[in-house]
Amino acid sequence: MDTQQLSGIGMTSQRTRNRLVQRLREAGISNEQVLSVMASTPRHVFIDEALAHRAYEDTALPIGYGQTISQPYTVARMTEELLGNQRRLGRVLEVGTGCGYQSAVLSPLVEQLFSVERIEPLFSRARNRLYDLKYRNVHCSLSDGSWGLPDKGPFDGILVAAAPEQVPYALLEQLVDGGRMVIPLGGEQQKLTLISRDGDEFVTRILEDALFVPFLSGVQR
Ligand code: SAH
Repeated sequence: MDTQQLSGIGMTSQRTRNRLVQRLREAGISNEQVLSVMASTPRHVFIDEALAHRAYEDTALPIGYGQTISQPYTVARMTEELLGNQRRLGRVLEVGTGCGYQSAVLSPLVEQLFSVERIEPLFSRARNRLYDLKYRNVHCSLSDGSWGLPDKGPFDGILVAAAPEQVPYALLEQLVDGGRMVIPLGGEQQKLTLISRDGDEFVTRILEDALFVPFLSGVQR
């Protein structure tokens, strides 16, 4: 990747990114740490070159295989809710790597990030891209997130970027006591939901309406 691509020109410049951050503030994102990561993460390098000029619009964009990169507002909101009042999390699981943008946003805010994706070409592309960009605490695997990652857990936080009808049981099991999970739930009418673990109890709070791609099972090569 050349420096020009990373530093960005024109529509991908720092100024354009700052405008996005201003919009995120107006939309209610208030965690300064999250806003600062959103300002420094180059979203345009995670999407197809033909769409790069739209990278700092606050919209979801196609990344191939019927999937989308999440809207920046959604990425910021989920990150903010995952952190709660913590400045940094320890071990975090992300389900649905997609193009790796949300992983890049989480990377500086966590010690170790384990990210799983079920579609092989998206997995390998995201893994290579995150490696090239030197996000060395992000560990990608090709796997169906329904099972979590039992040998890497338990996790202080779990972020799910696709919507199941119900929370996969394995994910609840792999959350530490006091841990937080942010997950969209439902079919047509999805709700972004925060689940906090308190011993054997799971406290659920609905955050807002959501529109995510469906959570599917199995691995697709
Ligand atoms: N956070 C991503 C958004 C990706 S869209 C980004 O920033 O680009 C959601 C992703 O979840 C898709 O790539 C989809 O293939 C994946 N997905 C859906 N169900 C899954 C499952 N059971 N396990 C792992 N990944 C899943």
